[in-house]
Amino acid sequence: MKYAIYTFGCKVNQYESAVMEKSLKDQGYTPAEEDCCPDIAVINSCCVTENSDKKARRLLARIKRDNPCCVTVLAGCYPQAYPGKAALLGADILLGSENKEKVGKLAAEFIESGERRLTVPDIPSGSSYERLGSADMGKTRAYIKIEDGCDRYCSYCIIPYARGPVRSRPLKEITAEAEFQSERGHKEVILVGINMSCYGKDIGLRLPDAVHAACLPENVKRVRLSSLEPELLTGEDISRLAAEEKLCPHFHLSLQSGSAATLKRMNRRYTPQQYREIVDMIRASFPDCAITTDIMVGFAGETEEEFLESCEFVKSIGFSGGHVFTYSVREGTAAAKRKDFIPADVAAERYRIMTGIISQLKADYYLSQVGNVREVLIQRRESNDYANGLIPQYVPVRIYGSKAQKHDLVRVRITLACGGDHCVGVEI
Ligand code: SF4
Repeated sequence: MKYAIYTFGCKVNQYESAVMEKSLKDQGYTPAEEDCCPDIAVINSCCVTENSDKKARRLLARIKRDNPCCVTVLAGCYPQAYPGKAALLGADILLGSENKEKVGKLAAEFIESGERRLTVPDIPSGSSYERLGSADMGKTRAYIKIEDGCDRYCSYCIIPYARGPVRSRPLKEITAEAEFQSERGHKEVILVGINMSCYGKDIGLRLPDAVHAACLPENVKRVRLSSLEPELLTGEDISRLAAEEKLCPHFHLSLQSGSAATLKRMNRRYTPQQYREIVDMIRASFPDCAITTDIMVGFAGETEEEFLESCEFVKSIGFSGGHVFTYSVREGTAAAKRKDFIPADVAAERYRIMTGIISQLKADYYLSQVGNVREVLIQRRESNDYANGLIPQYVPVRIYGSKAQKHDLVRVRITLACGGDHCVGVEI
C-alpha cells in the first residue's frame, strides 16, 4: 500500500513527520508517487493560527471526497488541542502530539479490523519525553528534537494545550541522534523543540547541556538552535553557550511585541528593556552573531501608539530577519475572551508595515556581511554555474563557478548582497 504524509507547521512537526514516515515504511508501506492517490494519507496538523488548522481540515475533506477508500490519519496539534472537533471530521485515526511513531501499526490495525480510533489521550503533567526513533529527513541540515511541551501559557497561544508540559530529551539520546545524523553526512544539526529555552526543567538540566551533547560527535561540524524564548536564558547560559565552538552564532529570539503594555496583555514575562538586555548579553558573548525574531501584530487591544512603539523597538534592535504574524484568535486561550479585537483591515496594514521594516533590516544585515570571510555549508547545486548554501549567521550565499557539492563546507569572501534575498561569495 502507498502512503502520503502532509505536514503543516513548525520544525518539530517536520521532524515528527520523518519519524512517522519511518514507521509507515517499517510496516511495509511505500511512498505514493507525486500526483497519485495514496492508500493511506497522514495529515500532521498545526493549530498555531486559525488558518493553519483550517488548511488541515480542508485537506482532509478533499482527500475524503476525491479518494473515499483512502485510510485517513489526522495527527498532531489540532486533534490534541481540539479532540472533540477533530473527532467529527471523518478521519479513520486520530493521533495527537504523542504516539506518532505508532502510525504504521495503527494504520495496519485499522485496515485489519475496520475499527476507527477517534480518542486522543491527554498528556499528563509529570510525563517524560517520548522516545522517538531517529529518522533521516533527507535535508542537508538535520533536525534533532530535544524537547516537547510548554507551560508558559502566553495569553494568545494554544500550544500548551496541544503539546502538554515540558519534557526534555535525555543527553545520551541527543548525542546518539547527532551521531546518527552525522553518519548520514549531515554536518549541521538543528536543535528543535516547542519551548527549547525550558530544556531540562523537568530533568535538572539547562539548554547548554543539550547543545554540548549535540556537539560531541566529531563529524557534527555545526549545531544551530531554532526558536528561543528570550527571558529564560540567563547570563550563565549565554556564557556556557559561547564556549561551544560548533554552535552557530544565530539566535532566533521570539519578541512578539516591542510594547511593554502589549507584552503584558500577551502574558509574556519580559519587558522590551529586559529583551534588549538579553540581546546585549548575547552580542557581548557572540560579537559576530545574527539575531532574528517573531513578531505579532494586531493583538487584542493593540493601540496605534503601542504598534508604533513596537516598530521603533524592532528597528532599534537591528534584527537580521524575522517572521511577522497577524494575531489569530484561538478558542480556549485567555485572549479569546477579550472583546477588544483589532479590525482585520487595521491588522493587515500593520502587518504590511512591520514586514517592510523587517525586510529593510534584513537587507541592511546582508549588506553588512560584504567583505567578511565566512564558511558556507552547501545545500544544493542549482546548475553547473553555482551552488547555494548557508553561513553560520543564517544568510544564504550563492557561489558562482564553484565545484562544491551538497554537504561541503567552503570558505568564501562575501562580495555582494542582493537585497535581503541572498549574498554572493567567492571561494578563497
Ligand atoms: S512560550 Fe508562549 S508562545 Fe511559546 S509555545 Fe509557550 S505559550 Fe506559546
